[in-house]
Formats: sequence, structure tokens, C-alpha cells
Amino acid sequence: MVREHFTKEEINNEWKAICKHCNRKLDGDSKNGTKHLHVHLGRCNKQGQLDIRQQVLTALTYKDVFLRCVQLHDDPLYKHLPTEDDWTFAAKICEKLNLFYERTEDFLGTKYSIANFYFPHICSIRVALNEWAQDSNATISSMARRMFAKFEKYWRRSKK
Ligand SMILES: [Zn+2]
Repeated sequence: MVREHFTKEEINNEWKAICKHCNRKLDGDSKNGTKHLHVHLGRCNKQGQLDIRQQVLTALTYKDVFLRCVQLHDDPLYKHLPTEDDWTFAAKICEKLNLFYERTEDFLGTKYSIANFYFPHICSIRVALNEWAQDSNATISSMARRMFAKFEKYWRRSKK
């Protein structure tokens, strides 16, 4: 039973299904079915391996612990430490990729199967890409500009 993997909680007058494995909050309204919960579980349980996004998130969460360990043990294994800039860059990229991850999960939920629902989500991606193109980090801004150009190709086609 898929519901066994989730706890139900009311947050801001909305029912949320909270994944017991990763704590992600998904739509928990029973009238929206369980298809998205199955889809989430399939990904979340993938042989218990973390995808790249989860790995980065975990690394960022434990950044301070990680640095303290390195200072304490002076282990030659950790000679090439990420710099403060590396961590900032990883955090920025992670935050940006997270938007796509969440939007993908939203689309997979039955709740968003009507154009009226997913259109604002598509717009939010376009707005975000436009913002990222102005980022002070050259790698991020050039990546965002290329993504925006691709996005525009489909955007223009969809308006015809
Ligand atoms: Zn999960």
C-alpha cells in the first residue's frame, strides 16, 4: 500500500503526503489519487541510491561537519578541498536545479494535468531562466542563456 510510505499532515489548510524516506511534501489530498505518490516512491526508492541532486544536497547539509573533520584529522585523502567559492557555486546550481525537480514532480501529480494548472509553472521556469541569465557568475549566466534560447524555441511554437 503506497500510503504506508507517507505520513499525512495538514499544512496551511492543505493535505500533504510526506514521504517517510526523504521527507518530501507531496499533494496529499485523497481526491487527487495516488499516482504521483507511486511515481515519487519509484524514484525515491531507486535501490536506495541518491541521485546527483540528493548527493549535492547532502554534501551541502554536511558542509560544516565535513570541514571540521578535515581540520581535525588533517587527512591527506582530503587534500583537494572544495573552496568557499566551490560551495557557493554548488549551492547556487543546486537551488536552480531544484526548481526543475519540483516542477517535474508537480506535473507528474494528477492535480496538474490540465493546461490551466501547469501554464503558471511553465511561466515560472521562463521567469527564473531570465533571472539566472543576469547572474553574476559567468558559468551560470551562460548556461541560463543557452537554456532560455531553447525554451524560447518551444515557447514560440506553442503560441502558434
Ligand atoms: Zn521520498
